[in-house]
Amino acid sequence: MLLAVVVTTGAVFTACSSLRSTSVADASATKVGAEASRAIDLTPAPTEPPTAIPTLAPPTPTPIPTSTPEPTATAMPTPTAVSILNEYDVATLYGVDTRALVDGCPTVQDQRNTYPPRLTTVCNSPEAGATVGSPAAGFIIAINRQPARTVSSPAPLAHPAWAWGDAASMGEHVVIDHGARAGHGNVTTVLWGFDVDEELFIGQQVDTRTQLGNRTDAVSMQVWLGESVFGEQAELNPLFFDEVQQIASGLAPLMASPVAPECTVNFGAFSQLPNAGRPYRSGTHRGVDLICGTTGHDAFAALNGTVIAVTNDYVDAPVQNRLNVLANAAVAGDTPHWTLNLLFGNYVVIEHVDPDGREVITISAHLESVDPSIEVGGAVEAGDRLGEIGNRGTGPSAAGTTPVWDSSRHLHWEFFVDGQYLGRGLTVAETVAAYRTLLCGSAAMTGCT
Ligand SMILES: [Zn+2]
Repeated sequence: MLLAVVVTTGAVFTACSSLRSTSVADASATKVGAEASRAIDLTPAPTEPPTAIPTLAPPTPTPIPTSTPEPTATAMPTPTAVSILNEYDVATLYGVDTRALVDGCPTVQDQRNTYPPRLTTVCNSPEAGATVGSPAAGFIIAINRQPARTVSSPAPLAHPAWAWGDAASMGEHVVIDHGARAGHGNVTTVLWGFDVDEELFIGQQVDTRTQLGNRTDAVSMQVWLGESVFGEQAELNPLFFDEVQQIASGLAPLMASPVAPECTVNFGAFSQLPNAGRPYRSGTHRGVDLICGTTGHDAFAALNGTVIAVTNDYVDAPVQNRLNVLANAAVAGDTPHWTLNLLFGNYVVIEHVDPDGREVITISAHLESVDPSIEVGGAVEAGDRLGEIGNRGTGPSAAGTTPVWDSSRHLHWEFFVDGQYLGRGLTVAETVAAYRTLLCGSAAMTGCT
């Protein structure tokens, strides 16, 4: 999403879910509706070293079918009773210490099988205002100070464990990158249920028990392993080129350009398209870079939809701390979800529904600012202004050294269909063709001819 000229290598599919999924949900779960697909398999991850999990006794073993039944909702395990995990269990599983979370709340309820999945602290003598601390050392990579909002999803969720709207439902929250630990390539915690301290900043290095805020509610924690909540991830097979073209041609007549006409798409620069490698973050480019170069250009909604996530108060991380987070990604061998979130800067996520009922999501990132009219839960129409394009979240922005014209000033624009970016796994020529179909219909982007 930045330094586009550096990256010219071919497709590097480090985003392939098989590389990081430790407990893959049944792929059929994506077909049986949102509720069923949200059920979380508590079976210990098969790729875990046996010594990492000896103390965890799952409350109810997941029934293992003896045959291969049709994937129906009733075949999914029903939610089990809430159980209490002691701090040793969690620390052993994920390498983060729940004893550090909240004073007077030494244990956690295992709510990994509810939605959104989480661990929630249990307090002996709950005190409103008790100090909430970091469960382990790391770097703060996201801070959300917005009140909780419920965002309904108009389409079945393709992602079984998490959706963008979940962040809105948490209200104020803090995300910490703990790096590699407990045998996992990357551990990230998402913490909510407290007033976030004013002094916290993105990129801040924290230790175990560094104060994050003061308790207002039951404090909850999600542990992300790489790109997925508690390691749960749908097995998504890349779509065939014919199917991608069919989706793109169906949506093309409904599309508006995501950027002002001064900003261009360059189909000749594969580094600016999906599937290009991104060595600086050990990952894969999932979007299209639409280069503006200068300030003062608008980003727009590409389709009708509902806003499901907004960040508009982003402050770039200090340069060295940003590099430390990228170094954690290098160790992980992939870009963890929340690390990518850090690199997005200010952004808007919109959920659309295509005429065939697929869940379509667009992400507009590196915005200088988001239009005040764009709020979580609000409806937008194709062509509505989302904000001003910038380079927030990029290296030049963090360093404060952006020249008058710089290719880092661009819209990083992602187009997701049923949980994966359009074109995932396609060849260069196929990717170019698919995005030409999508962006050169009614959107008629500059660079199409
Ligand atoms: Zn990009």
